[in-house]
Amino acid sequence: MTANVRPEPYNRVLIIGSGVIGLTTAYLLLERGYGVTIIAKDFPSTRHLPKIASEASGALWVPPARMVQPVKQTPLDPDVHHAGQIAMDETLKKWSAYGEERYIPLCKDSRNTGVYLREVVALSRKKIDRASLERYKQMRGFRHSFSLIKEKGLSDGNGQLKDAFAFVGPIIDPPKFGTWLIQECTRKGAHFIQGAIRGLLTQQADALKMTYGVQFIVNCSGLGSIELAGDKGMYPVRGSLLMVKNDGSLFPKIDFCVEGDHTSFGFDEIGQEINGCTYLFPRGENRLMLGSFYQPNRWDHDVTLSSPYVQSMLTQCKNLCPRLSVLKDSDIQVTVGIRPARKDQFRVEQDPYEPCIFHNYGHYRWGMTLNWGSARDLVNLIDNAVTSLTRISSHEAIGKVSKL
Ligand SMILES: Cc1cc2nc3c(=O)[nH]c(=O)nc-3n(C[C@H](O)[C@H](O)[C@H](O)COP(=O)(O)OP(=O)(O)OC[C@H]3O[C@@H](n4cnc5c(N)ncnc54)[C@H](O)[C@@H]3O)c2cc1C
Repeated sequence: MTANVRPEPYNRVLIIGSGVIGLTTAYLLLERGYGVTIIAKDFPSTRHLPKIASEASGALWVPPARMVQPVKQTPLDPDVHHAGQIAMDETLKKWSAYGEERYIPLCKDSRNTGVYLREVVALSRKKIDRASLERYKQMRGFRHSFSLIKEKGLSDGNGQLKDAFAFVGPIIDPPKFGTWLIQECTRKGAHFIQGAIRGLLTQQADALKMTYGVQFIVNCSGLGSIELAGDKGMYPVRGSLLMVKNDGSLFPKIDFCVEGDHTSFGFDEIGQEINGCTYLFPRGENRLMLGSFYQPNRWDHDVTLSSPYVQSMLTQCKNLCPRLSVLKDSDIQVTVGIRPARKDQFRVEQDPYEPCIFHNYGHYRWGMTLNWGSARDLVNLIDNAVTSLTRISSHEAIGKVSKL
């Protein structure tokens, strides 16, 4: 338990979900002196086939300067209100900035924390406009030069690429980072329970509080919120990464990230166009992840290397980085993850019907970037609830004393 222990009676929290959102929320609640129990169907691990989005993530931190109008980058949310979108941008920027603040110190102990500081080379098929460049200048280690393509041994695709820039930022090895978070939370006194909660949380809040001896419940169950919060706006967006060895034995080691432009990988078996972004992200010490695409409303993990859109993704990665052309199918392991997307974007709030329940979910493709910021806002919401509950009970106590 930390030195900064919260006084009873409002000091214990149940967190549902052990992805990056649940674990980061647990970490910050423990830091603030709350006692935490985490219940989850699945915990992050280094298993062969990822079960939760947080294990399958590419896990590059996205800088605030690139968190502008993110909704427009995806065709999935065409009806988001413009003013709401601007407010959303500001929240995303704030959360991303806090993520950098928390990740950077962890980069000093990468092998233990799974957080690395790496150069990211971003490539574009059109000239980057002046306004974007002005924003990008704020990024750590920013360089704007087309010569980055040659410097890093990449290809401009026979003149298809027109611009390039680089910055330096954290990239996460998700299973390692998840393990580190679990270790740190355990060290600070958290209890972990493997199990599933079924049904609407609002209909079982008292039972859950009693069973787990808590005063508050935080829902960090990602797509589980369709059932637990009755949230019909949640939907899956499938993605896949190809994992290869990056220890110099197959090709000269790649120690920087590459982000290509948005692209199409063709069509899936039901005729749906597969959009994505070609990228190469080193993972940990000696692996490289090749990605990835956005396939809405797909729950299954049945993605294979022979799927035409996966082949197209692999070809585009090889075209971008010719040293990967030596890769054979037997060198490649396919990993699949289902992103927790939400029509109205993420949800970080106190439940409007049951004030002991809080929600932190729907981070879609930015959970590794927004985790720290959204968890901090969530902890502040619980702090505020504790303050008002404490005020009510002291008024009640004063009332009782004055009646004596
Ligand atoms: C291929 C891919 C690439 C990505 N790349 C990036 C990137 O580069 N940068 C970035 O910032 N983000 C990226 N993301 C997004 C990021 O990984 C997700 O936003 C994030 O992992 C979501 O975390 P989560 O904790 O909300 O959900 P999850 O990781 O899915 O965790 C949900 C948790 O809830 C539990 N649960 C669910 N239902 C119940 C229940 N009924 N009872 C008990 N427990 C339950 C699950 O077992 C699990 O523990 C990527 C994702 C994918 C798939």
